[in-house]
Amino acid sequence: MREYFKNIYEAVATILIGMGVTLRHLFVPSVTLQYPKEKIELPPRSRMQLYVNIDDCIGCRQCERACPVDCIEIDTIKADKDEDLGLTSNGKKKPFHVTRFDIDMSKCCFCNLCTFPCPTECIYMTPDFEYAQEDRSNLNFHFSNYTPEQVAELQKREAEKKAALAAAKANAGKKPTAN
Ligand code: SF4
Ligand code: SF4
Repeated sequence: MREYFKNIYEAVATILIGMGVTLRHLFVPSVTLQYPKEKIELPPRSRMQLYVNIDDCIGCRQCERACPVDCIEIDTIKADKDEDLGLTSNGKKKPFHVTRFDIDMSKCCFCNLCTFPCPTECIYMTPDFEYAQEDRSNLNFHFSNYTPEQVAELQKREAEKKAALAAAKANAGKKPTAN
């Protein structure tokens, strides 16, 4: 009989303790954010999504070399001697056509190491974290603004230059023959 009343006492006490916790939380401000309607303010210098201002990129590939997980892939083609690709916003000459500048954010570990060596500060972290994708390949972001046709044309020109150089070297190496 004693055990019976003890069980009833414990059941009622447990309910009252639980209700007490609920009651206490009725009078404290809520900390839950109704995302995506409400968004938390991120601290300054948060590392989220990388961005490249491609107009300021000189194609030096220092960011690509600094990346510990190889998620940056850059292809460049040297400009012709008489070709002027213009200047960056901090006055640096652009010596290369940057025909590919891809960053695979699915591999990125947000270490920020790629941003430090950039001489024009054109690669940087943005506060944008809402870029989830169903297809992982959509996380490979492309920053080059060259069309496939322009890239093909530049590659053709480069191949012709190399062939001409090789032919010139071969001709220079030939011994003159006596008539
Ligand atoms: S933040 Fe780190 S991992 Fe991501 S691209 Fe830059 S260097 Fe690579
Ligand atoms: S370090 Fe800067 S300028 Fe050099 S390739 Fe990377 S983004 Fe372009």
